[in-house]
Amino acid sequence: MKMKSKEVGGAKDPPVIGQCALCLEGNQKLENSHFLPAGVYRRMIDRKHGNPNPFRFNDSGWFQDNNQIRDFLLCRACEDRLNNGGERWFLNYCWSQDQFRLASLMDEAAPATAETRIKSYHATQIGGIDRSASHISR
Ligand SMILES: [Zn+2]
Repeated sequence: MKMKSKEVGGAKDPPVIGQCALCLEGNQKLENSHFLPAGVYRRMIDRKHGNPNPFRFNDSGWFQDNNQIRDFLLCRACEDRLNNGGERWFLNYCWSQDQFRLASLMDEAAPATAETRIKSYHATQIGGIDRSASHISR
């Protein structure tokens, strides 16, 4: 499937109008939404290798490229809802090459259950976790 982002979406292109895939409001100016947050794509690049780009798989096999999958999917309000409702917090606490803040919080907490290789935690019992940033129902 050819992505719309290759065809339109430049600053001089007319806006894409349609139904938002999240709030289902019609006649909305749709944003060129990332399938994964742009910050996740940046973290998947590993400059220590000759080809730093992430691996992708499809029906033909695997390959590496720096293409960020995007499409005109969400209205501005829903883009903001996702950014403010978890994406920003997630990117601050997920793994990066110099830190992994969520793992550090969990290392300091007592697990609710602990098996040989798996531990589970109650987010309510870890003070640094912003549970309000982990949902989008506002
Ligand atoms: Zn929307």
